[in-house]
Amino acid sequence: MKKLVCLILSLFLLCSVTAAFAEAQPVEALFVPGVYGAQAQGLFVPVKVVITVSETEILNVLIDATGETPELGGTAASKLSEAILAAQTPNVDAVSGATVTSNAIIKAATEALTLAGADIAQLDALRRDAGGKDIVKEAKELETEIVVVGAGGAGMAAAIMLQQAGKDFLILEKMPYVGGNTTKATGGMNAAETHYQKEQGIEDSTALFAADTMKGGHALNDPELVAVMANSSAEAIDWLDSIGAELPKISFSGGASVNRIHAPEDGSGVGSFLVDRFSAKLADLGVDVMLNTKATELLTDADGKICGLKAEGEDAYYTISCKAVILACGGFGANEDMYTQYRPDLKGTVTTNAPGATGDGIVMAQKLGADLVDIEQIQLHPTVEQSTSMLITESVRGDGAILVNQKGERFVNELLTRDAVSAAELEQEGQYAYIIFDQNLRDHLKAIEKYVKANLTVQADTIEGVAEQLGIDPAVLAKTLADWNEIVRNQRDTQFGRTTGMNADLTTPPYYAIKIAPGIHHTMGGIKIDTAAQVINTEGQPIPGLFAAGEVVGGVHGGNRLGGNAVADIVIFGRIAAQSALDYIK
Ligand code: ADP
Repeated sequence: MKKLVCLILSLFLLCSVTAAFAEAQPVEALFVPGVYGAQAQGLFVPVKVVITVSETEILNVLIDATGETPELGGTAASKLSEAILAAQTPNVDAVSGATVTSNAIIKAATEALTLAGADIAQLDALRRDAGGKDIVKEAKELETEIVVVGAGGAGMAAAIMLQQAGKDFLILEKMPYVGGNTTKATGGMNAAETHYQKEQGIEDSTALFAADTMKGGHALNDPELVAVMANSSAEAIDWLDSIGAELPKISFSGGASVNRIHAPEDGSGVGSFLVDRFSAKLADLGVDVMLNTKATELLTDADGKICGLKAEGEDAYYTISCKAVILACGGFGANEDMYTQYRPDLKGTVTTNAPGATGDGIVMAQKLGADLVDIEQIQLHPTVEQSTSMLITESVRGDGAILVNQKGERFVNELLTRDAVSAAELEQEGQYAYIIFDQNLRDHLKAIEKYVKANLTVQADTIEGVAEQLGIDPAVLAKTLADWNEIVRNQRDTQFGRTTGMNADLTTPPYYAIKIAPGIHHTMGGIKIDTAAQVINTEGQPIPGLFAAGEVVGGVHGGNRLGGNAVADIVIFGRIAAQSALDYIK
């Protein structure tokens, strides 16, 4: 095994050189022959993929995912290497139970083949079946009652409800894996007046939840959608309980007046937890997600009612007849052309988004006259590690970490809303900062293991040791930390007025730092819906049979989404969209 890893590593180094000297690809060839490597962040570590190609064929795929858990890394590596070789394209199905590792392998393989001069769309078009024969896409017609577009959190929540209601429906997912941006949600789900809050003696109200959300969104939010989210949140927590997706651990998250963010018991990221539970529930219920199947166009009849959609799959072009469509295809944070169209100032900003977040739902709905709201409202997340685009969860600050600039000084109340903290970072020299925490915080927050394993952390037994590694004046950083610990002792932040995330001081060595800066995180704007998740057109009328939920929708979060509200949004409105579609087709 060690030998294989060494071979991969040395090939990996070699192939960067090969790639640098690669010449333009001849028109008739698919690749520039050679060995190419790339890596992408997996669950714990960057996974490495090295691919050997001839002019017309992928000859060999070596995958090193050994830093992931042995089961995940090993299984995904061998299965995906075979699948990519057989299909002759990187766009193959993810290995179930190893979604994040599979995603990373597929991403790295795509990058390596792109370095090899491949046009990935062309490889997809030439996709081979398992026997190695070229696949010719046929035209297929399908009929069902409802189609859900997108298998992220909102789409899967909707699909579970539709199946529980015994309806005939299809769920399409354009990527080879489910989960979308939902997989990346790290914090938790905001909900008020839940049984967990009551059991833990936390006083909260749906009115306070709504007020916090409006305040956090600079009152740009649609108050009716916000009220629905707040009022349905406790029930949504009960529903999650009922499908085995319990979120009992409650803590504080930026912009909330009380402890309201609900997370899994073991402290794991809420997104991957829910995606796993939702997929398991769908599998239990016998629902197959149509992977690698991209919705391309919505179809309406002469009265303007939804009557179907077109989609492109691995081996077929589908025309699907149906009575209702639920758009749950996420935002557009991975589509640089689209976000720079609405926000030219964001050109070149790294994104934390999953590759499927390309705004397809918005474009399809607009063609039917759907209205858009707050489309230019794009949230930057303040703590994104820039070389991997990995998001450092808000819980790190919520549990007590501080931010310092290159001078080693705090510069903001770290738990202000995301836009405010991001703006403060962009004012610092170099437009970045460091998040600082200690061993005690690491011991209580499982997410940190991922950052340590991915080598994102700088660590030392003393804070001065951390400072030295970061090129910060050790005396300044040591004073910042001492001042901070004094603030925690007195529970009074005389510097920046922080009032939350102050339960534990930072006094347990070793000390840690991660360099972070803002990254594109959430597109708050999108399709206009009413409280029943019906899509509303530019004349203020519902488009009959068209529903939308999740990040594809605008209005819930206004000008700034609070941490914990995306998960509330997808679970609550995913279910509302399903219920409305069921009522509509009755
Ligand atoms: P949300 O849960 O808010 O809906 P996610 O980003 O978690 O958002 O999920 C959206 C899903 O929709 C992603 O998995 C994405 O790949 C998928 N998707 C996006 N566009 C299409 C499309 N045209 N056809 C099918 N699936 C799509």
